[in-house]
Amino acid sequence: MKALAQGRERLSELGLDHAAAVLAETLQSSMREKSDYMTFLLALLDHERGQRQQRNLEVRTKLAHLPYRKTMEEFDFSFQPSIDERQVRELSTMSFVGQQENVILLGPPGVGKSHLAVALGVEAIRQGISVYFVSMTQMMSDLRKAYEENRLERRMRVYLRPKLLIVDEVGYMPLDPVAANLFFHVVSARYERGSLVMTSNKGFGEWGELLGDRVLATAVLDRLLHHAHILNIRGNSYRLKDRIPLSKEA
Ligand code: ADP
Ligand code: MG
Repeated sequence: MKALAQGRERLSELGLDHAAAVLAETLQSSMREKSDYMTFLLALLDHERGQRQQRNLEVRTKLAHLPYRKTMEEFDFSFQPSIDERQVRELSTMSFVGQQENVILLGPPGVGKSHLAVALGVEAIRQGISVYFVSMTQMMSDLRKAYEENRLERRMRVYLRPKLLIVDEVGYMPLDPVAANLFFHVVSARYERGSLVMTSNKGFGEWGELLGDRVLATAVLDRLLHHAHILNIRGNSYRLKDRIPLSKEA
C-alpha cells in the first residue's frame, strides 16, 4: 500500500496526474490479467496520453469558437444532390489546408452552408489544425473597433494566426468603405498563407455591390479564388423541408 501511495505521488510530481489517478486500477487489472511489466507500463501511459489528447481537443475546440457542433456524419447528402459528396469528403481530409487553399460555399438560405463550414471546422480540429470561426458581421465590427482604437495590427492576428479561418455569412450586409478595406486586408493577408472557408448567399457577380467598390471587389475575388474550391449549392432549404411540399402536384 505504501508503495502504491509513493507511486501515485511520484506520478503527480512529474505532472502525470491522470496516470496517478488510475494507477491502482491499472495495477489491479494488470495483475488480474497477469500482464508483463511492459504491458502494464504501456497501459498506464496510454491512460495519460488519452486524457491529454482529450483535453487538448477540448481546448482547441474552445479556441475555435464554433457556434455549435455539427459534423459531416450528420449531413444528409441525399437531401442536397447539387453537392458533390466526393468533393466534400476530399475537403474533409484537410489537404486543402496544407495547400493554403480556400473553400467557398455559396447558396440560398437553409441549404447547409454553415453546417458544412462548421463540420469542416470540427474535422480540422480533430486533425490538430488551428481553427477560428467568426461571422462576417462579428469580424467586421471587431476589426472596425480595433481600427478606431489604433490597434488594428494586433487584433488582425486573431484572423491571421489560425491555419483555418471560417467566415460565415459574407454578404448578408453591404459593407461601407472602411469595412470593405478591412475585409480586403484580411483576405490579402491570408492569401497563400492560410486557408479561408467562407459561406455566402451572394454570387460573385454581386460582390461589387456588396463591397461598394468594383475595383476592390475584383482585388478581393482575385486572391480569394486563385486557389479555391467552390461549392455552389442549389436546392431547397433544409429548414423548410417538412413544411412546404417540394414538388407541387398540378
Ligand atoms: P445555411 O447556412 O445555408 O443557411 P444551415 O447550414 O444553417 O444553412 O442549415 C440550416 C439547418 O438545417 C441547420 O440546422 C443544418 O444543420 C440543417 N441542414 C441543412 N442541410 C442539411 C442536410 N443536408 N443534412 C442535415 N442537416 C441539414
Ligand atoms: Mg448559415
